[in-house]
Amino acid sequence: MTATSEHLDVLIVGAGLSGIGAACHLQTTLPGKSYAIFEARESMGGTWDLFRYPGIRSDSDMFTLGYSFAPWKSPKSIADGPSILAYIKETASDYGVDRKVRYQHRVVRAEWSTEDAVWTVEAERADTGETVRLTCGFLFMCAGYYRYDEGYSPDFKGTDQFSGRIIHPQHWPEDLDYAGKRVVVIGSGATAVTLVPAMAETAAHVTMLQRTPTYVVSLPGRDPIAGLLGKFLPQKLLYPIVRWKNVLLSMLSFQLSRHKPQLMKGLIRKGLEKQLPEGFDIDKHFKPPYDPWDQRLCVVPDGDLFQAIKKDSVDVVTDQIDTFTEKGVRLASGTELEADIVVTATGLNMLAIGGLQISVDGKPVVLSETVGYKGMMFSGVPNLAAAIGYTNASWTLKCDLVCQYVTRLLEYMDSHGYRQVVPRWTEPTLPTTPFVDLKSGYVLRAVDSFPKQASRAPWRLYQNYIRDLMMLRHRPLVDEALEFSNPAPTRNQSDPQAHIAARAS
Ligand SMILES: Cc1cc2nc3c(=O)[nH]c(=O)nc-3n(C[C@H](O)[C@H](O)[C@H](O)COP(=O)(O)OP(=O)(O)OC[C@H]3O[C@@H](n4cnc5c(N)ncnc54)[C@H](O)[C@@H]3O)c2cc1C
Repeated sequence: MTATSEHLDVLIVGAGLSGIGAACHLQTTLPGKSYAIFEARESMGGTWDLFRYPGIRSDSDMFTLGYSFAPWKSPKSIADGPSILAYIKETASDYGVDRKVRYQHRVVRAEWSTEDAVWTVEAERADTGETVRLTCGFLFMCAGYYRYDEGYSPDFKGTDQFSGRIIHPQHWPEDLDYAGKRVVVIGSGATAVTLVPAMAETAAHVTMLQRTPTYVVSLPGRDPIAGLLGKFLPQKLLYPIVRWKNVLLSMLSFQLSRHKPQLMKGLIRKGLEKQLPEGFDIDKHFKPPYDPWDQRLCVVPDGDLFQAIKKDSVDVVTDQIDTFTEKGVRLASGTELEADIVVTATGLNMLAIGGLQISVDGKPVVLSETVGYKGMMFSGVPNLAAAIGYTNASWTLKCDLVCQYVTRLLEYMDSHGYRQVVPRWTEPTLPTTPFVDLKSGYVLRAVDSFPKQASRAPWRLYQNYIRDLMMLRHRPLVDEALEFSNPAPTRNQSDPQAHIAARAS
């Protein structure tokens, strides 16, 4: 075990899209702050480095998934995974924050001491097996929302009999050759609708096997307005215009789904009728038993999934799996789908704040007993914020605002001489609800381990960019829930080693 004497003003956990964005914001706005990014893996990019399945791409547009401060320059609005990874790396290098990443540092524990107003953080190094300890004044969790080591796979019967390969998209084998093979993709979410047309390009045949249909909408792969404006506007002007256009359109689509679900269903249906071959059973395969945005809507660029269905290289089957057999999958209806490869695009295992165990003054924090403050801090947990993006719009839109809020908060604390800030839950009569209000399987499986939210600000997670923009960037920081203080130090703060020694004793 190594105990270092290092103290940082801010520790960012995670070098994915959010962690790199957080570092850029911090470095630009508060260049005097010392910070590092601890990243569990060997490389940056998070999601966009981990997922390597065929066709991997965004399902929201890059003008809003990109950072507010780094224009997305490609004409592709729905972009492939490697381009997004390159964008993250390029931004990290342009801002010099790549030098601040410490790879193979998995943060496992953090203990807050009010007395000293510091976090003592423990990280495990995958390369050396050492445990690294350091202190920091603020923890900025940018650790995403799901487990990296294992995707979700239901317990299907009979998998041991199956003579082909079963693959989870989260662990795509580099050597998988599916050309000329029969493939069954189990799932109906974003990953399934991406994989199916991509694999159909060379596979003998692909079947998308789903238990329940999803709303699937076709959008242009290239933004036509960006294409038009790009002819006479410089990138710097074009980017915010197209970003705002897309923010407003996605808000309109979400609000329409919430307030006029029948109208939204009708519009989606019209789109499907236009794109799918005549006689295709839309009711069976693309009419979900819930309203749009009760679960995430799936986007397919330029209708690629529908094109593949038209070409007969793809079938959609809506049924239940009875069991795997030697040759494939037998369904509840009795039909057997023969397959050489079965891909279980059955989702993720959600995980809050990177699985970190936190305690405050020796008392473990049970995250599910906390209430989210402005969707980014947690009641009773000092000096910690988490970059948790939108589920109904691009992740980065919210994370950018969270980063701006955190830098405002740190500036405010410095200028007022505060060392501790903690949201205090003072509304015991206010009913709480789950933090994430989607009804997708992966959310329902994990939502009990996530913090709660309540029905009004600052405890409500609005999922609304304009509201959040006002709340996080423009409204005053000080409110009744946020408690600033300056706990009296009992020992020399410039000597964090003294603190580590004290905690260890
Ligand atoms: C296949 C796929 C497609 C998606 N497409 C979209 C899309 O089109 N639009 C959209 O808005 N969202 C999309 N999402 C959601 C997506 O995850 C976010 O958009 C975004 O990439 C999240 O970035 P992040 O940095 O917050 O998290 P991640 O990308 O998950 O990165 C988190 C990083 O933190 C590290 N980490 C985690 N725990 C620890 C720890 N304890 N210690 C140290 N390091 C740790 C991880 O190793 C990882 O590098 C998609 C998700 C998936 C899985």
